[in-house]
Amino acid sequence: MAPATNSSSGLNTPESELEGFVAVHPTAARPVPIAVQSENVSYSDEHIVSKFFNRGSEAVFANGQYSVKPTIKPFEFQTTRKVSKTGLMMVGIGGNNGTTLSATILANRHGISWHTKSGIQQPNYIGSVLRASTVSIGTDPSTGKEVYVPISSILPMVHPNDLVLGGWDISGLPMDKAMERAQVLNWDLQRQVAPHMALIGKPLPSIYYPDFIAANQEARADNVIPGTDKQAHLEQLRADIRAFKEKHGLDRVVVFWTANTERYSDIIPGVNDTADNLLAAIKSSHSEVSPSTLFAVASILEGEPFVNGAPQNTFVPGVIELAERKHSFIGGDDLKSGQTKLKSVFAEFLVNAGIKPLSIASYNHLGNNDGHNLSAEPQFKSKEISKSSVVDDMVNANRLLYKPPAEGAKGKAAKGEHPDHIVVIKYVPAVGDSKRAIDEYYSEILMGGRSTINIFNECEDSLLATPLILDLSILAELLTRVKYRDLSAGHTEFKPLYPILSLLSYMLKAPLVKPGTDVVNSLSRQRNALEAFLKACIGLEGSGDLLLETRIW
Ligand code: NAD
Repeated sequence: MAPATNSSSGLNTPESELEGFVAVHPTAARPVPIAVQSENVSYSDEHIVSKFFNRGSEAVFANGQYSVKPTIKPFEFQTTRKVSKTGLMMVGIGGNNGTTLSATILANRHGISWHTKSGIQQPNYIGSVLRASTVSIGTDPSTGKEVYVPISSILPMVHPNDLVLGGWDISGLPMDKAMERAQVLNWDLQRQVAPHMALIGKPLPSIYYPDFIAANQEARADNVIPGTDKQAHLEQLRADIRAFKEKHGLDRVVVFWTANTERYSDIIPGVNDTADNLLAAIKSSHSEVSPSTLFAVASILEGEPFVNGAPQNTFVPGVIELAERKHSFIGGDDLKSGQTKLKSVFAEFLVNAGIKPLSIASYNHLGNNDGHNLSAEPQFKSKEISKSSVVDDMVNANRLLYKPPAEGAKGKAAKGEHPDHIVVIKYVPAVGDSKRAIDEYYSEILMGGRSTINIFNECEDSLLATPLILDLSILAELLTRVKYRDLSAGHTEFKPLYPILSLLSYMLKAPLVKPGTDVVNSLSRQRNALEAFLKACIGLEGSGDLLLETRIW
């Protein structure tokens, strides 16, 4: 047996003979630091400062030709090296995602391995882009081979084991029991991790406005902040964040919505269209202010990042304006764990291969509480909207295959020609957390031919979503520590990044981006952007995929 790598927490049941005796999985190991030797990077005890040349080009169509002019803009990035002591406060911590994430962190932190029918299983962070995927940082001159490191090594990032866990739920079931209710994790793991989960205790009471989630959730709502005064609710949430921060001596709290999908909020002029109107609407307890919007506003006013892992339009225009005003970070919407992730790869593959998808028909069935909530029409609508625009940018990028919109076209026609795209979700209790997703891609190929591809995708929903919550939280914390100055604009001071964290797009189905800028749905472009940004912060440019040395003599 491998030597002990973790000391026993002393909390496991006597049968937990495996605790601390299985080596740490590579995805849970502490990263090896990287030092870049370049005139473009300087390191101090406090900061890493890098120079970055943003290379692009301006392309204009005029007089029957494209005129293209390369551009270079110099920037500097400053990253604070000290990782914040970070708390993760989940809204909906007692749900499938919340309990699975908490148990995963605790199992990794305490080195809890467990028996399955196929042997001993070790805790890990598989499925986390930051912890379990790698990037090339160069070639080893002695071998000529590329050197790969985990993405989490590029810059100092919070280790998931170090996150302090807490949060709210309208269900007051203590965390050990809530994990049991979720029916996601193997029993031998649940049995061992339960005493640690019990220490997190009962979730904080939350706000419950029955109109926003499905009526079938009512029976769960036994842990709610009393009253209907939304201003008082906002103040309670702010006090909860402050108290959690103080109790655990935290530098930073990431607030993460992993609660039920809400219905869409109506955007009403004078109510939620500007920051001031929204704050006034909260004061007057306007019925169209949703719980998730209140959590977002509370986080923004506390200066803590807020991420929305569900599809509803939490970020009404008033929230975005408030985040801009307070320079407080927000990111969303909706975790991209299974079908949509595959679709963003598959549709891109087809369109980039010069094949024309005519229809994409997606069918899902699932049996967990998320599926139960989504079986109500208004909540399904939120999910349908978030899943539906995922192929838009790929279609827009190829007007050889799809006709552009006619000038002045309105409504649906404003999108131009588009594949038919439908999404169906059905609640089938028997399959529990094991979601089934079936997609048919029906495409036009050469000389009027047709091609049909069917994909059947079985996802353990919460096991795919959990690592995304970790990635989003860890990146959100990191991005609060990165500042920039635009040298061509004559900036002398470093400024924080723009509050909408579109660099989180890889993990999100309907990425929220800076108003007026285009959404990128292509998974490979989203990953390249993240990789390029992190590398820019340590003075490394480009992805290196050109591999020029392999193309020349
Ligand atoms: P879940 O139903 O198991 O958990 C949601 C929890 O939120 C429940 O415990 C519920 O009591 C609680 N809740 C509801 N309203 C609340 C409120 N106002 N305040 C505090 N708690 C509240 O669902 P899940 O499977 O954990 O998924 C969570 C969310 O993530 C859902 O909105 C789902 O659509 C979204 N999501 C999940 C996945 C996935 O793969 N699991 C993927 C994308 C998005």
